Amino acid sequence: MKMVYCNENSFLVNNVRNLLEAEQINTFLKNEFSQGAVGEVSATDAWPEVWIVNNTDFYQAMKIVHSSQQAHKGSDWVCADCEETNNASFEICWHCQGEHPQR
Ligand SMILES: [Zn+2]
Repeated sequence: MKMVYCNENSFLVNNVRNLLEAEQINTFLKNEFSQGAVGEVSATDAWPEVWIVNNTDFYQAMKIVHSSQQAHKGSDWVCADCEETNNASFEICWHCQGEHPQR
């Protein structure tokens, strides 16, 4: 088992997990529910993490994670409803589920 992705934003972590699951890579989450426990553990320890079950998937998983991060470097967009910044790959606002202005 290996960790392939970790972020303080559980929405991003779930996004990566969904991408991996779509490619038939078995994953599980660590620290999924720990965000409410910040303060008891150090902040980074509490970040949700995506792990893969089979190490043989590692190379493909990292490729998917990497390309998802590349997509994020595209043009971020700002939600018209809550003014939260969203990554280019998001179809809807991670914060309020508002719609992408051009989609
Ligand atoms: Zn929003």
